[in-house]
Amino acid sequence: MLKLEKVSRVYPDGTRAIDNLSLHIKKGEFCVLLGPSGAGKSTLMGLINGMVLPSQGEVVLWGEKVGGSNLKRLQQRVSMIHQQLHLVPRLSVLNNVLTGALPETSLWRSLFMLFPEKNQRRACRLLEDVELEEKHLYRRAMALSGGQQQRVAIARAFMSQPSIVLADEPVASLDPVISRNVLNLLKQTAQQHQTTVLCSLHQVDYALEFADRVIGLRQGRLVYDGRPEDVTPQVLEELYGPGNVPCPGEGGGVDAPPPFIAEQQLAAAMQAA
Ligand code: ADP
Repeated sequence: MLKLEKVSRVYPDGTRAIDNLSLHIKKGEFCVLLGPSGAGKSTLMGLINGMVLPSQGEVVLWGEKVGGSNLKRLQQRVSMIHQQLHLVPRLSVLNNVLTGALPETSLWRSLFMLFPEKNQRRACRLLEDVELEEKHLYRRAMALSGGQQQRVAIARAFMSQPSIVLADEPVASLDPVISRNVLNLLKQTAQQHQTTVLCSLHQVDYALEFADRVIGLRQGRLVYDGRPEDVTPQVLEELYGPGNVPCPGEGGGVDAPPPFIAEQQLAAAMQAA
């Protein structure tokens, strides 16, 4: 369902972020992207959601080449969970999740936050899937802990019933216990909805624990593509370089609320929808 055929992406300054990459990803796979900073993980996600276009090669989603007139339609089937979450701090948890349905909500309804009842029911079910208790529904997002906010971000990502969810370092700022819990919920929710996930992680141990398939990138090239069980210390050294393999749990922070985007960005998103 997702194919990259000999894709390269060269930025205007000459940086070759992705170099002749070919990948085939099947429906429902939970893929973890590993690689050092600058390996091309974010660029790869950008290529899949059409925010970055290839310099060479093709990205094909469900048989259609990404780009041109089909871009917006294909983008509606791909959701993103950002490292910074991008929740709206003063909106309730429920309304934050409902904003995930903005592409299918008319402009006047979105301006007044009038979401159809079926969407409200779907949002509540998704919040249940990520095990956020009902008492949090009408709390402002800014009143939640980092782990709870991450769960809201997961529920929001599934709101538009995407076929692919891209998660860019979704547990970068969480402590190890909360990180495992969040990754578990992401995987469970994806299984329930038969959604393909591409998740970049800094923590190798979480990748080996949660991935169905590990995709390792270095300098934009594919260094490893296979089962987590087959990732050997040699593979990791090849990926990160000798002595640079991240230690278990490295990268976990505290369960503190992450920074929020400004409300103006939500208004811009509504206008774009
Ligand atoms: P990762 O997500 O693995 O850290 P990125 O995809 O962000 O890697 O970056 C891959 C390479 O492309 C890096 O060398 C980075 O500096 C470069 N890069 C990323 N975005 C741009 C850009 N907009 N312009 C120029 N170079 C970029």
